[in-house]
Amino acid sequence: MLRVSEIFYSIQGETTTSGFTSVFIRLAGCNLRCSFCDTGRALEGGEEMDIPEVLKWIKSLKPFHHVTLTGGEPLLQEDAFTFLEKLKEAGYDVQVETNGSVLLDRVPHGVRIMADVKTPSSGEAASFKMENIKYLGENDEIKFVISDREDYDFAKTFMAEHLADVKSVVNFSPASGVMSTSELSSLIIRDRLPVRLNLQLHKIGDFQ
Ligand code: SF4
Repeated sequence: MLRVSEIFYSIQGETTTSGFTSVFIRLAGCNLRCSFCDTGRALEGGEEMDIPEVLKWIKSLKPFHHVTLTGGEPLLQEDAFTFLEKLKEAGYDVQVETNGSVLLDRVPHGVRIMADVKTPSSGEAASFKMENIKYLGENDEIKFVISDREDYDFAKTFMAEHLADVKSVVNFSPASGVMSTSELSSLIIRDRLPVRLNLQLHKIGDFQ
């Protein structure tokens, strides 16, 4: 059984899959309370749906081929792992967006992981489970949301100390309306950081 906040068909706004259509399944509930959370309605509540019912919904939306499991924090729900397996078995290209605080050892092979490392401005900077680094491969991605210079320095130091041998794409995302894209770009160029500037396409394009 899954506790579902919403299911919708839209365009992926972040990471290297941005710009592609996807079906989004947003599971309810989160163990963190980030200062900049823009999915407050998913922190609690949700409707109970069984996995076959959700798979039927996805099929009815006739997705391109891509499905995104998001939240809240989707991996808090025990059945999320079985659901990811079923999506892969059904032939979808599947990604899961996680806040990084839940152990990733049971994410099925072939599911792309998009893991956040929370920065100081989120108020949840100590939440990343360091053990997760070993589960992140070249098809997975890491994201830092940067609000200010303290966040930038935190992300840069974290990369140097913990991600030097990690093959995943690292995204630096300017916090919408807080950090200017040009300032973050300048810092990335100045420091020659091997990261991807991640703009939140859904906020630029004003879609969900
Ligand atoms: S982890 Fe995501 S859903 Fe949870 S509080 Fe933070 S921003 Fe909101």
